[in-house]
Parts: sequence; structure tokens; C-alpha cells
Amino acid sequence: MAGNAGAARKNGGFGGPHEVLADVYAFTGEKKYLKLAEKFRHNIVFEPMLHGDSMFLNKHHANTEIPKFIGYERIYQLTGDMQWHNAARFFWEEVALHRTWANGGTSQWEHFFNPAHNEAKVNETCGPETCCPYNMLKLTQQLYTRQPHAAYIDYCEQALYNSILPSLAPGGGFVYYTSMRPGNFRRFSRPFDAFWCDVGTGMENHGKYGEMIYAADKQQLYINLFIPSVLTWKDMVVRQETTFPAETRTQITLELKQNRRFTLSLRQPAWAKAQKVIIMVNHQPVSAPANADGYWRITRLWKSGDCVEMSLPMQITARRLPHSPDHAAFFYGPVLLAGLLGTDGLERSDFYEGGNNTDAANQLAAKPLPLTDVPTF
Ligand SMILES: [Zn+2]
Repeated sequence: MAGNAGAARKNGGFGGPHEVLADVYAFTGEKKYLKLAEKFRHNIVFEPMLHGDSMFLNKHHANTEIPKFIGYERIYQLTGDMQWHNAARFFWEEVALHRTWANGGTSQWEHFFNPAHNEAKVNETCGPETCCPYNMLKLTQQLYTRQPHAAYIDYCEQALYNSILPSLAPGGGFVYYTSMRPGNFRRFSRPFDAFWCDVGTGMENHGKYGEMIYAADKQQLYINLFIPSVLTWKDMVVRQETTFPAETRTQITLELKQNRRFTLSLRQPAWAKAQKVIIMVNHQPVSAPANADGYWRITRLWKSGDCVEMSLPMQITARRLPHSPDHAAFFYGPVLLAGLLGTDGLERSDFYEGGNNTDAANQLAAKPLPLTDVPTF
């Protein structure tokens, strides 16, 4: 889902029809669908991204723009025409690396803003819309497929653990905005009178955990995320067992029909100190040099029952809010930490909301903890 009617009226919130048309071209081979998809090249946005104009996005409706670039990357995949990719790649870098909050979301009141204004924006009662990481994850997956790099998975992990996973209420309900304001709290949709875009994408979101755990090319299997799972690849079964991030290790066991030589590529997370990570094969430490793409590689003749263990020590880190002298977020490994500030003055109903997205934002603004009451250090 993309954007809302207000944004559509203003400046082309057309979402992703060109992605769908490009898919129809892929299925049918009929060029007319590709030609029509290419007509959705929205030059007002496309040209600045193609030419690396980072300030252009300020004030643009965030989740109106993200699906456009998903469609442009899809056109690149089918045509090989680099300009579509170059625009999509610059857009991703700009949003994921320069306009993303600590929780993996982007925007404020649904709109991009100049990152130089972070200090003022963080204290507003609104916050990033959950639909944005939904679509950014889709674009990230496309770009990763073209050129696997651990930096893409760092973004996926940040968004999945800190934005998507906590957007589901215990007992049901989804989050529209997550306030970035210190001391504010999260609100979830009520079951019968809230059906925002974020309820729709909110349901789809929780099918995303499995999408990027593994990736593969002909001779290489990538272990990207540390999520318990079973993968069938070629004629083998790969079993990952872990309670990560509660435990700081994971274990991968291979079941093979016959011995097979291939490369296992293990992601080096940005939050892990490389020299502290221990990789063991069949309980023996191995040295696996890190590559420029952020993967440790082990190439060998693998046998059924072979077991790879990764120990990934975590530490508490502070990440400063860019352009802000006063605000920082604290992480334990990849997990964004939050303070338990109690619920004084709040009713259970304060944590649920209905109505439309404007109501959602207004209700979020209704009872923020005064900043003077927020613990600081
Ligand atoms: Zn939304």
C-alpha cells in the first residue's frame, strides 16, 4: 500500500502499478506492459535521485516515494537499463543511511524532512509510519539480490527487530506511527474501527521475517539473519537453531544426501566486533577472513552432520542522532533499548486507537510525558 489520498492529490501518489505492470511483462513477455510501466517514470522525483540530489526529498511524502523506486528497480531487473537502478540505489542510500531513525523507520508526520532538523523533529509527538520500513525492506531485498552486501542486511535486521516486530500488539492490533519523542508511548489499532494502511501492511509485515534469513547463488549459501529456521537448498537441509538475540550465538547444522563442496558465507553484523566473533566448525575454531562485502567465507567439502557455530558477543552502544547535540539511542547488539517509564496517568484505552490516520497522530499527541519528567543523563 502506498501513501494516502491527500498525498495522491498533491503530487503523484500512484504507488506501485509500474511494478505490477513490469511483473506482467515478465510473465507474458509482451512489451506493451513494459512500455506502460516505463511511463510511470515520475521525472520530478526520478531525475533528482538519478543525479544524487539528496536535499530533494525534503517535505516529500515518504511512503508515496518508496514504492516508486521499488517499481523502478523492478524495471531495471527486466531491462538491465542502469539508470533505473542508479536512481533506486541512490534513493535507498539516502533514506536508509541518512533519513532513518534508530528503530529503522523514516519520516515524521509521513514526510521526509531535512536531516539537519533532526533535533527539533525528535521532540514532536508523531514519528515514522510503519508502512515505510515495510516498503524499504522490499527495496532492500531487490538491491541485495543484485549485489549481496551485509550492509543491506544490517538495515533489514534493524527494521525487523526494532520496527516490524514491536508493531504487533500483544493480543492483536498494529502501529501507525511510532513516536520518537523521549518518554512517549506506542498506540495500537483497535480491532473494529481502525483499518489504516498500516493495518494492511501490518498484517503482511509479519511474513517478512523469513525472507532474508538465507540467500544463495550457484556455489554459495549466505547466512544473513540469526533466526531459528529450516532451509531446503538443492538436496540439502540447513537447520539454524538459536534464541537470538536472547542468546548471542547461533548454530547451523547441515543434512546432505552426499558430500558437497560449496562456500558458506556468514554475515558479519555491523554491531559485532570482528575480533570477538568466534566461528567453529564441528566444535573447532576456524579462521574465516572477512571480505569487503561483509561476509566471512568458509569453503570446504561439507558432510552431513557438519555443524557451524557462531558466537556473536554483543555490547551496549550509543548511536548519536545525526545533527543533534543532545539525543542518542542505545542498543544492545542490534536491539534498540527502551526505558520503562511506567504508566502513571494512562488508561488501558490510551494504548489503542481507532478512526483515521489523523486521529492516530492527534491521539498520540494527547498525553506525552512532559520532557522535564523524562530521565536524562
Ligand atoms: Zn501506512
